[in-house]
Amino acid sequence: MLLEVQNLKVKYGSIEALHGISFNVKEGEIVTLIGANGAGKTTTLHTITRVPPPEGPKVCEGDILFKGKSILNLEPHEVVHKLHIGLAPEGRHIFGNLTVEENLKLATYARNDDSKIKEDYKLVYRLFPRLYERRKQRSESLSGGEQQMLAVGRALMTGANFLLLDEPSMGLAPLLMYEMFRALKELNQKEGITILLIEQNALLALQFAHRGYVLDTGEIVLSGTSEELLNNPEVKKAYLGG
Ligand code: ATP
Repeated sequence: MLLEVQNLKVKYGSIEALHGISFNVKEGEIVTLIGANGAGKTTTLHTITRVPPPEGPKVCEGDILFKGKSILNLEPHEVVHKLHIGLAPEGRHIFGNLTVEENLKLATYARNDDSKIKEDYKLVYRLFPRLYERRKQRSESLSGGEQQMLAVGRALMTGANFLLLDEPSMGLAPLLMYEMFRALKELNQKEGITILLIEQNALLALQFAHRGYVLDTGEIVLSGTSEELLNNPEVKKAYLGG
């Protein structure tokens, strides 16, 4: 097992956002956590990546194991550079006054595997040709979809082989959404990158992932293969528009 979240309870001050959730991700899988606004999806990703207090979530019970070892004592940079987990956050958080190329380069600062870095640039530009075309352009002038691509590219440039994606479909026009998910599928199938995807667009997420979990106000209420969830009457009613 690559990632095991065990009975995780998380609070922001007095608000308990996660009430004891458990789920897992195996190497090479695409797993999705679906759920409505405020269900606790971002909190889950931020707890795995150890986003620091005061804004960050605080674990009050449970554990997160990566390859069998607890990661709760790690610093955020250790999660990225030692575990090779890359987060493409919601809202992108790219550096708008830097070019596409500079944003990607910045993500490599802690690496010294130059030949692999070169391969990763090629990979990112092959997956997202738009980023190559716009590599000299300031990132703030990219479209929302292109910025989303850059956020994924930047996570890859840290040397990640496990990607945590926070709503990559958010605000994307259908064509860009298609391009994004085609690229992510290729990353999983050809490069063996494991993906944990959180999404409000349940249909899209379940069509893309192997397995999924449904998160509802801080609790996992359903789980199964994507096919099982797509055919589940409760999921259909609550998340797939009937
Ligand atoms: P969305 O899809 O709207 O981003 P989400 O499923 O990602 O929602 P979270 O952002 O994880 O949900 O929020 C879960 C709960 O925790 C919500 O009730 C939210 O108000 C609360 N919460 C999130 N971040 C903070 C914070 N920094 N301080 C206090 N409460 C927070």
